[in-house]
Amino acid sequence: MKVFKFGGASVKDAEGVKNILSILNTPKSNLIVVVSAMGKMTNALEIVCNDFFNRTGKTPQSFDIVKTFHLSIVNDLFGEKKDEVVKKMDKLFKELETILSSEPSLCYDYEYDRIVCFGELISTTIIAEYLQFNKRKAKFVDIRKCLITDNNYRDANVDIELSEKLCQKVFNFQDTFLYITQGFIAGTRTNQTTTLGREGSDYTAALLANILDAEDLTIWKDVPGIMNADPKMYADTEIIYKLSYKEAIELSNFGAKIIHPKTIKPLQNKKIPLLVKSFSDPMSPGSIVAELDEKLKLPPIYINKDKQLLLTLTPRDFSFIAEEKLCNIFGLLAKFRLKLNLMQNSAISFSFCINYNEVVFKDFINSLKDEFEVLYNKDVTLITVRHYNEDIIHRLIGEKVVLVEQRSRLTARFVINNDISE
Ligand code: ASP
Ligand code: MG
Repeated sequence: MKVFKFGGASVKDAEGVKNILSILNTPKSNLIVVVSAMGKMTNALEIVCNDFFNRTGKTPQSFDIVKTFHLSIVNDLFGEKKDEVVKKMDKLFKELETILSSEPSLCYDYEYDRIVCFGELISTTIIAEYLQFNKRKAKFVDIRKCLITDNNYRDANVDIELSEKLCQKVFNFQDTFLYITQGFIAGTRTNQTTTLGREGSDYTAALLANILDAEDLTIWKDVPGIMNADPKMYADTEIIYKLSYKEAIELSNFGAKIIHPKTIKPLQNKKIPLLVKSFSDPMSPGSIVAELDEKLKLPPIYINKDKQLLLTLTPRDFSFIAEEKLCNIFGLLAKFRLKLNLMQNSAISFSFCINYNEVVFKDFINSLKDEFEVLYNKDVTLITVRHYNEDIIHRLIGEKVVLVEQRSRLTARFVINNDISE
């Protein structure tokens, strides 16, 4: 059994859906297809959610964007035979409308999950219908019934044991070779919808591969494979054909957007290979991430992480930055759910880089201020270079203003100030 995952970019229009059909015509094995929301529909649904939660009065307009986008794809795919599919769409739209016409609860994250999940529910419905329409027998699975999480909305934790039992029952391949299901979304034991964090469908696909002992997982992307840098930012990128799990975990954690950081572990634990391939050139080999013994010679790999916040804390009481102080800082990071990307300490100061989050920024800084003097730089970039050499560092960093620099044997990291007026 194999698992395929298609992201938003692969199904951003009718052509994308048709392309999935042609890709699915090749494999001979049993297959589970995991799909995320079409195009930028998760962003659009986030706006719907915000309008609803903040009672802006603009939900009809923002919801209409979601409806029109999907109906136009349905129109392109099914033409005059679209009535049955439109009926199914209407049922989903009504469900969402019912939520939107009620009063929001006090919990934003709860509302977010039950609204944003419609991106995935609609995309998988359209794709499953299109496959049926083309005489491909595909079974639609609502993953919320068998991928079970706690109720940590927007970043839910999967109950692997329970999900394993339920998924093995649901994906039994007794009367089909092909399942279509949603990435990113899941459900609690009490039937509430949860999500696994933005871009989480890769993680869903990896979990299913793990739970069901897949031969391999293929993630279909809009790039030829795993590249040594983001081709949208750098001109001379190259494809890396083979990587170890360890290297892939490091890269995704440093901010390479190619795969969600949580994807690799479930695969590595069962030694399931991960293929990253181009959906517009399915015959080309792409990249493979696997358990590799050989020492691979990798080119320099560079990753830019933008929208970072660099903070430097100095204790007000002139004590040292010792374990107790660090413990308080880490406690606050966990409380505000801020991801720590780099840290450095001296005797009396502690500097660190986190993803800038406007919503909690002020509260976070204020809760540090009792204990520390706080200096910060907004909008800095964290550049990580794996397998570096001096040439590449010179090319990438050049005259840029470096606020923090760290080097280990394999990895060099630089926090760059984008604000040249300082
Ligand atoms: N649709 C979700 C998102 O855009 C999940 C995913 O694409 O993996 O974040
Ligand atoms: Mg997406």
